[in-house]
Amino acid sequence: MPEADRVAIAAPPFPSQTGPRWYWPRSVYIHIPFCAHHCCYCDFAVLTGAGRLVEDYLDALEGEMALWLAEPVSVETLYIGGGTPSWLPLPSLRRLLQMVARFFLFDQAKVEYTVEANPTDVTEDKLSLLREYGVNRLSLGVQSFRPETLRFLERHHNFSDIQRAVTSALQHFSDVSLDLIFAVPGQTLADWHADLRCALGLGVHHLSTYNLTIEPKTALWARVRRGQVQPCDEETERLLYAHTIAYLEAQGWEHYEISNFARPGHASRHNQVYWAGEAYFAFGLGASRYVAGTRSSNTRSLRLYLSQLRKGQLPIAESETLTPRLRAAETAALQLRRRRGIHRDAFREQTGFDLDELLGSVLRKHRGRGWLEDAGPIVRLSREGIFYADVVCADCVACGADEHQNGATN
Ligand code: SF4
Repeated sequence: MPEADRVAIAAPPFPSQTGPRWYWPRSVYIHIPFCAHHCCYCDFAVLTGAGRLVEDYLDALEGEMALWLAEPVSVETLYIGGGTPSWLPLPSLRRLLQMVARFFLFDQAKVEYTVEANPTDVTEDKLSLLREYGVNRLSLGVQSFRPETLRFLERHHNFSDIQRAVTSALQHFSDVSLDLIFAVPGQTLADWHADLRCALGLGVHHLSTYNLTIEPKTALWARVRRGQVQPCDEETERLLYAHTIAYLEAQGWEHYEISNFARPGHASRHNQVYWAGEAYFAFGLGASRYVAGTRSSNTRSLRLYLSQLRKGQLPIAESETLTPRLRAAETAALQLRRRRGIHRDAFREQTGFDLDELLGSVLRKHRGRGWLEDAGPIVRLSREGIFYADVVCADCVACGADEHQNGATN
């Protein structure tokens, strides 16, 4: 169905509510789509060369928040991601932070408030501004320290940009995280090890490590199809991932989710909301939310996003209300991404389902393969199972999908 025919479901403005954490959000994600350059591998909702539209976008974002929220709501974690939020000029960044402060109430002493940044955007002015509005965590899109890898990924920073950005960020924030990418064509184990060592040497608190995936319709995908780029083979990818886990754990880091590692006490609370299967608000181009048992996503078309909001309509492209059974199965799949896995009692309390009655056949199958550990109240991926997480999680969701009725897709 053309996207134009699928927008705008009716959704009431929500008064400030409470309810179980799976139902009513205590977290919010805000998407800022602007980037200086569209990197070859990226399939996020991003806009380049669109500086003139920043204020229109912020108008629309404000309108979207006002449509969803009848009054300010209390949250425990906030995450402004993108795109590149740090790319915003200082006055626009201030406007965004003021808008967030109007719609969301939080305790400055307890909140986790993250903003994503590119190393070359990090200036004292911007960091001071972020801190003034309560931001206490910076997530830097570093990807690599090696010039060759950065060139391949079309990232326009270098080692000294990263070093300068991290040093400044550590002076302002209690948590600094880096994104790194492995399985880049041509990257060796020694190259990847050097990246990990550099990251640790900078004294950051958290690392998100992603394998490079060739997403359809990206510039990189086109190059792979033309035979100009040979993707990293599965064996190398597995070797690099296994090394990540072994090396970081040996350095005392906690591997708390498939792609995420933290120094003790620095796991991201915001991201753990997603993996617990809990509710969260989301605003902005292409943003996806989970509120009151319904998952919905905004359009990725800027034209539609702006025009719908000018008309006072929500720019929702897809919406799906989960049956209790599918919600429980999805919760299991998400929680298996955590190294601590699923706690049976907590799962029953959150979903109303007994894990073994719901997913007994899936659990038996993957225990038999050695991919799941089942110790008393806890079920989690085994060391081997981590490499097959996608298969196990997809089986969980498929098992819950049989009674699912698709919700309204407008
Ligand atoms: S900077 Fe990040 S969000 Fe922007 S295009 Fe590159 S990878 Fe995508």
